[in-house]
Amino acid sequence: MSKRVSFITLGCAKNEVDTAHMTARLVQAGYEVLDWEDLSPEAIDGGEARLDAIIVNTCSFLREAIEESLDTIFDAAGLPSVADGRTKLVVTGCLPSRFGDDLESELSEAQAFIPCKDETAIVATLDQLFGIVRDSRTEDTTGSIARTSRLTTAPSAYVKISDGCDRFCSFCAIPFIRGRYHSFTYESIHEEVQQLVEQGVVEVVLIAQDTGIWGSDLEPKRTLASLLDSLASSFPGTWFRVLYIQPEHVSEELLATIASHENICNYLDIPFQHVDRSLLKSMNRQGSREEFLQLIDRIRTILPEVALRTTYIVGYPGETEEQFDALCDFVSETDFDYVGVFAFSPEDGTRAAELPDRVDEDTKQERLRTLRELADTVSSSQLKRFIGQTLDVLVLGWEEDGQLLGRSGFQAPDVDGVTYLDKGTPGQVLPVLIEDTLYYEMEGTCEG
Ligand code: SF4
Repeated sequence: MSKRVSFITLGCAKNEVDTAHMTARLVQAGYEVLDWEDLSPEAIDGGEARLDAIIVNTCSFLREAIEESLDTIFDAAGLPSVADGRTKLVVTGCLPSRFGDDLESELSEAQAFIPCKDETAIVATLDQLFGIVRDSRTEDTTGSIARTSRLTTAPSAYVKISDGCDRFCSFCAIPFIRGRYHSFTYESIHEEVQQLVEQGVVEVVLIAQDTGIWGSDLEPKRTLASLLDSLASSFPGTWFRVLYIQPEHVSEELLATIASHENICNYLDIPFQHVDRSLLKSMNRQGSREEFLQLIDRIRTILPEVALRTTYIVGYPGETEEQFDALCDFVSETDFDYVGVFAFSPEDGTRAAELPDRVDEDTKQERLRTLRELADTVSSSQLKRFIGQTLDVLVLGWEEDGQLLGRSGFQAPDVDGVTYLDKGTPGQVLPVLIEDTLYYEMEGTCEG
C-alpha cells in the first residue's frame, strides 16, 4: 500500500510552488499526497486512516514567520501518532535553510530536515524514513519529472521563474536562506505552464524573489519581457500576471509587451520600500521620490489603466518624522491601487539589524497604523474608477455562504480584493459590469 503523506505549507506563494514541485516528485514515486485542508480529523489524530508522514514546509522570512513555523511544527509533533512515532514529521523549506544544523539539534521532534536547495531529495528522504529501497533504474536523479502536481482544482496557479536573490537588501534574510539568484530555463517554465493549462489553469502568476532580472544569467541572455511575450503567444487563452518587479527593472520593453498582449494582466507590483534616497541607500536599494514619480508617470503613459501595487517599510533605523511624513505625502499623491505596509523587523544576520538609531516600537506601530489607514483610504477610492466599466472576470468559486467570486485582471491572488458576481462556473472568464466597490472588493453583474 502506498504511503500517505500531507504538506502543511506556510509563508508566501513561492513556498506553495515548492510544495507543488515536491508533491509532483512524491506522486511520481508512488506516494499518496493528501490536501491537509481535506483531511478527516481521524487522519490527523492518528486513527485508522492516519498519515504516514506530515511535511511542514516552513517560512523564516521574518520573526513572526519563524514563530509560526515553530508553533506549527510543535502542534504537529503533539499529534498522538506523531508523538508515538507512527507518523513521521519532516521539516522542509526556509527554516532548515536559515538555521541548518542548529535547527536539527534543537528540534528532536522532527525526523528529517530538507532545506530549500535540496527539495529534490524529498523522495529519497521519505524512502529512507520508511525503509523503502528502490531499483536504482527507477530512481529520480535527473530532475526530469513533471514539475507540478496540484491538489486543488483552482483555475489559478503560481509559477516560479527563478530562485534566490543577489540584491542583499540590508533588512532581508532571503539571500542567506534561498542562496544566489538563478533563473529557471524558458523550456522548464514553458513545460510547467503547459502542464498547468492541461490541468485547467486559466491564470498563471509568475513569481520569484526578483522577477525583473529573469534571464540575465542565462546563455544567451533573455529578458522578462521576452518570457512574457513567448508565454502569452503560446497560450493565448491563459492570463499571465507577473509580481515583484524591482523599480529599476520596469523597462520600456516590458511595458510595451504588457500593452501588446490582451492576456497579460494590466497589473504591476513594484516594491519601493521607501521614497527617501538616504534610507533607500541604507537599505542597499536604488531610487528616490523623484525617480519613482518619473517611473509612475512613464508606466501610466504606456499603460493608462494599469493597476499598481507596492510595499513600504516603516520604522527603518534612522527614519525621522520628516522622512515618514514625506512617505505619507508620496502615498497620497501617487494613487496606488494596493499598498502593503510592514514595520521594520531586525532579522538576525542582516546588516540592518546592526544599525544604530532604532525607531522605538511604539513609534513604529503608530507609523504602521497611520500609513495603513492612509493607504486604505487612497486605494479604496482608487478602485471606484472601475464602477460602470465592464471587466473580464475569472470565476474562482464560492465562499462558504454561497457567494460566487472571481478576480479581474486588476486584482492579484491572495493580496488584493476579489470581485463578487451573480453567475458563472469556476474557470470561466466572463464580462462583468462593475456596479459597486467596498474597500478592496468589487461587485458586478455578468453580461455574458
Ligand atoms: S530583492 Fe531585497 S527584499 Fe526582495 S528577496 Fe531580494 S534581498 Fe530580499
